[in-house]
Amino acid sequence: MSQPPVFYFDNNATTRVAPEVFEAMLPFLKESWGNPSSAYSFGRQLVKHVEEARTKVAALINGDPREIVFTSCGTESNNSAIHTALVTHPEKRHIVTTSVEHSSNLKFCDFLKKEGYAVTFLPVESDGSLDLHLLEKSIRPDTAIVSVMWANNETGAIFPMEEIAAICRGKGTLFHTDAVQAAGKLKIDVQEIGMDFLSLSAHKLHAPKGIGLLYVKRRTKYQPYVMGGGQERGRRGGTENVAGIVAFGRAAELAVANLSEEGTRVRKLRDKMETGILSKFSGSLRNGAREPRLPNTSNIAFDSVEAEGILLLLDQVGICASSGSACTTGSLDPSHVLLAMGCSAARARGSVRFSLSIYNTEAEVDYLLKQLPPIISKLRGNAPVKEVMPAAMAMRGA
Ligand code: PLP
Repeated sequence: MSQPPVFYFDNNATTRVAPEVFEAMLPFLKESWGNPSSAYSFGRQLVKHVEEARTKVAALINGDPREIVFTSCGTESNNSAIHTALVTHPEKRHIVTTSVEHSSNLKFCDFLKKEGYAVTFLPVESDGSLDLHLLEKSIRPDTAIVSVMWANNETGAIFPMEEIAAICRGKGTLFHTDAVQAAGKLKIDVQEIGMDFLSLSAHKLHAPKGIGLLYVKRRTKYQPYVMGGGQERGRRGGTENVAGIVAFGRAAELAVANLSEEGTRVRKLRDKMETGILSKFSGSLRNGAREPRLPNTSNIAFDSVEAEGILLLLDQVGICASSGSACTTGSLDPSHVLLAMGCSAARARGSVRFSLSIYNTEAEVDYLLKQLPPIISKLRGNAPVKEVMPAAMAMRGA
């Protein structure tokens, strides 16, 4: 399947599988495709590889391999963390979360609300930050869990994990963080921070889709969300996705090795792109604070245009970007994250998220900066389509 060149600026939606990761997982699709729970060695020998991968992903977050539960994705991990807190503390029927979480958290909390649980959705400030006083005040004696994401998938805003963990410890409440966007971009040390649960997803880390994990701090009571066989030491039923787990392990190793590049080269590239865009278009603004922010993410509001139009025209010249999260793209509703930050619906509808990875190059950023002006002019009614597209198409392959 040959693809036209793709200029990929949507790495918060998913990432390309690293060649090293692809190589590592291949034998477990081609030759060693057994079931690790089997009695015979063709299957049983795979346990060793699963455990090696567990050690590697544990190292990424400075956890103990016994604290890792492999799941199918970040969504399952998020659901599982909240579920276990409620089921193991049936007398506690309140959850604290934020209004800017990923839909895997928000939709589950909405469901729980309908089931009779109380949920506090904390607001955020206009720069995307959280009022920690309010967070502390919101924790009640019957709060089962506080679930606050580490980094926002739409704006890249980073929440202060250490402070939130300390507040939760002080209140004796379980703390879960959705670290799906933080992994590979920020240093994660579960021991230093001391959270009880943490979710990761492999496909945001240059591994394939369909594999995630939930970190469960040792001695934390745990009730499985997916029940079945005794896999994952009884904490998650379902035959292990061996190839995915091995891929996750390799991707975790690479993420550790590439972390400094994310913080330096990728950040520099993102800043060049952002400054380039903001200086080119009157009325364009960054959504959210400049810092603390993921080094790869930039969310920009374009005045007097709809993001939908921008994305469509960018797509025609091979550029992938997005408005809101991939899970909500397709709906015409403006981003719940931007609305929670107090943006008008018009500003939210005119906002585009660009998210980079270590695979982006300076030439790609230059290409994007060259393609955007005719697209924005055209959408603002200043240039006809025909004049824009042939020139833009000619740039393809840059
Ligand atoms: N949490 C955040 C912050 C995300 O960005 C995503 C995916 O976009 C998820 C959770 C869900 O992860 P998955 O796609 O593995 O279910």
